[in-house]
Amino acid sequence: MDKEGRGQFKEKVSRFFKELPRKMKDLLYPENITCDLCGEELKMESRYNLCSRCIEKLPFIDGDICLNCGVSIDNEAEICDRCQNNSSVFKINRSPLIYDGSARDTIHALKFGGKKYLVKTIGAMMADAFLKYHMEGEIIVPVPMTDEDERKRGFNQAELLAYEVGARLNIPVLPALKKTRVTSNQKELSGKDRRENLEKAFEVVFPQVKDRKILLIDDIFTTGATANECAKALLKGKCREVSVLTACITKLKPLME
Ligand SMILES: [Zn+2]
Ligand SMILES: [Zn+2]
Repeated sequence: MDKEGRGQFKEKVSRFFKELPRKMKDLLYPENITCDLCGEELKMESRYNLCSRCIEKLPFIDGDICLNCGVSIDNEAEICDRCQNNSSVFKINRSPLIYDGSARDTIHALKFGGKKYLVKTIGAMMADAFLKYHMEGEIIVPVPMTDEDERKRGFNQAELLAYEVGARLNIPVLPALKKTRVTSNQKELSGKDRRENLEKAFEVVFPQVKDRKILLIDDIFTTGATANECAKALLKGKCREVSVLTACITKLKPLME
């Protein structure tokens, strides 16, 4: 190798080492992976595809919870006010997040912004809550929408979340419920009216739920009226028990809504 050749070789070697950190990074993170919420590039591997700042902002439920609905409780009570005034036929509800702040924005972005990729992150949080609270379920059933509503939105977010959670926990998903009656928008109704509005709106369409422990999945737990009506229908279909897993739970009491 002549002098010029040696020079070129040295230059190549030094360029190789200069570019090595970037090459290693490309190898470890082959795509340009960004935070699901703020779009910032993720430099470190993250459990939820979110940057540390966005994770910190999310209102995760931690510490003492209501034994029935799983909402955070900041006193000695075992059951929250919402559950003291309502009787429910499902075993428990658990949620990883309080429906507030950036958790609410995230659900809105999924439902109304059509950002279906958020299902992966929200589903991962729900699967973690299932494990954290030692929940049980042999079949996952999503809370259904009416055919009309689903056609309007293009998808049922509860069903998308159900399949994501099912894949992560290795539990089969069965869309065993059908919403047979069109109901008024729950948002505009108080607790009692919500329950009456939903009465007998759901029906079991797959007999396979019989004798099974069901894990019912929805995006938001508000008064628990929807979960309760779905659980009633499933129990009528002779399932053994119903546990409910929702992405978020509201902190508000039904009367204050
Ligand atoms: Zn972020
Ligand atoms: Zn409660």
